[in-house]
Amino acid sequence: MINNEKVVLIIQKIAEKIHENRQFLTDLDAAIGDGDHGINLDRGFQAVVEKLPTVKDKDIGTILKTVGMTLVSTVGGASGPLYGTAFMKAGAAMNGKMELETSDLLTIIDEAAKGIKMRGKAERGEKTMLDAIEPAYEVLRRELEKGSTLKDALDEAENAAKEGVEYTKTIIATKGRASYLGERSIGHQDPGATSSMMIFTVLKESCE
Ligand code: ADP
Ligand code: MG
Ligand code: MG
Repeated sequence: MINNEKVVLIIQKIAEKIHENRQFLTDLDAAIGDGDHGINLDRGFQAVVEKLPTVKDKDIGTILKTVGMTLVSTVGGASGPLYGTAFMKAGAAMNGKMELETSDLLTIIDEAAKGIKMRGKAERGEKTMLDAIEPAYEVLRRELEKGSTLKDALDEAENAAKEGVEYTKTIIATKGRASYLGERSIGHQDPGATSSMMIFTVLKESCE
């Protein structure tokens, strides 16, 4: 079962994963953007890690909202408000909860995706983080509905996110800085989709 302590642990692991991959994410962004995605997110998640002790005993809604607000105030660029809104919206849907059912996990990801779409006005197929998150969400829902274990469902969701990242190599960016490149953005994987995929990897690794 995923309780509030486990949620804190998962967020710490996300911060570690982003930290380990900060250079890779930044290099991806250097190819089609301004080369700061890894630096931006690492700064934000390190600030989150510093904040976590103040909310570790609180409900999951409070924890997620605190993560979101911290990301909004510390991550520059497009991804700060986008990831920040995602966590804040997910948190608002988990108010008062000390434990998550698997259906709550679906709600969290659904709300996060809705937050990103609302804030960024993007749809799937525009070479953004949504190209990893939406397919991963759909596969997770399908697997859980058909009775797969959480571990198997998260495994499939991570695969879908990876396929989504591969798909971003084949399409033109129409949102964010990469859109300035037009057709020259083809052949490059989207940094935001890649960091989103990493979050699904952490979820999978944390629920084994
Ligand atoms: P910036 O482009 O401001 O430097 P980052 O480099 O941190 O911000 O983040 C870039 C990532 O943000 C992109 O790879 C893309 O996935 C995501 N992104 C940019 N604009 C949007 C948008 N409107 N909707 C969803 N995601 C977006
Ligand atoms: Mg950038
Ligand atoms: Mg930038």
